[in-house]
Amino acid sequence: MAHIPRKRFGQNFLHDHNIIYNILSSLQVKPDQHWVEIGPGQGALTEPLLNEGIRLDVIELDRDLVVLLKEKFKHQPRLQIHSADALRFDFSALVRSRAEQGGSNEKLRVIGNLPYNISTPLMFHLLKSAHCIEDMHFMLQKEVVDRICAAPGSKKYGRLSVMMQYYCDTELLFDVPPESFDPAPKVMSAIVRLVPHQQPPVEVHDVAKLNRVVTEAFSQRRKTLRNSLKKLIPEAEIAALNIDPTLRAEMISLDDFARLSNLLQEELAKLDKPSGMSGGNGQKRKMSLFKSDKVGSSKTQK
Ligand code: SAM
Repeated sequence: MAHIPRKRFGQNFLHDHNIIYNILSSLQVKPDQHWVEIGPGQGALTEPLLNEGIRLDVIELDRDLVVLLKEKFKHQPRLQIHSADALRFDFSALVRSRAEQGGSNEKLRVIGNLPYNISTPLMFHLLKSAHCIEDMHFMLQKEVVDRICAAPGSKKYGRLSVMMQYYCDTELLFDVPPESFDPAPKVMSAIVRLVPHQQPPVEVHDVAKLNRVVTEAFSQRRKTLRNSLKKLIPEAEIAALNIDPTLRAEMISLDDFARLSNLLQEELAKLDKPSGMSGGNGQKRKMSLFKSDKVGSSKTQK
């Protein structure tokens, strides 16, 4: 019986053979590589990937589709089907278990036409395993890809741009129109390539602080840094870093955000030292910093 697409699982199945060909062509797949596909659905990408001679783990949440995939690919020894939620999946375990079985511990190549409603948290979940990921190729809403790849000065530049660019090289490969899917989504999609950095592009002492400064700075886009960051970093200290406090967050580079977060980290460390090193209003400042934690929560979607 034909599978009826389920909205709650973000099921928009790819059926445009030209797009599937373009995706495959941009991947430079080599036999024996270890790939992971998130949300294989009915196998639109799974099948051509397997034809390249790779080893493939797929993670699918919809149990009906898992049954369908097991039947469709029952003669495929290089395919492992995981009936699981990708948001809770331990991706580094795939590399560990392969190494334990005597295979190589080469990094994973990840691909997915992602359910749009979980794409941002899923990318940040994957980045926890960035050390064992070679690259990632995702189909996402074009608007999200634009935000991921945006540069300072652009209206699309925001928290997602800064945090993703801290972890990865980002590149928009091409757009995909709604008609390429069944059912057709309302919006345009695009393919993005994310390559985790071997070395971080900027020095950040604590990524949680970077996240906090960036979240706070973009929480009200129209405010200048001196206003949006006032609970965290005084205007004079922003200026002392050679960053103009009258600029808005959308003008601030990753490097500048890194320096602001390191300053915050140092200031907080001083406040934690016991012997009054932070001066008379240290306790007051610390309280206001903690108050602002509510704003700087680790929500991954804007
Ligand atoms: N790859 C297929 C294609 O291109 O036609 C299907 C893509 S469809 C947009 C998204 C797929 O992700 C669906 O198969 C859906 O069931 C699956 N999915 C949704 N949430 C998931 C999750 N949390 N973990 C794993 N798979 C999920």
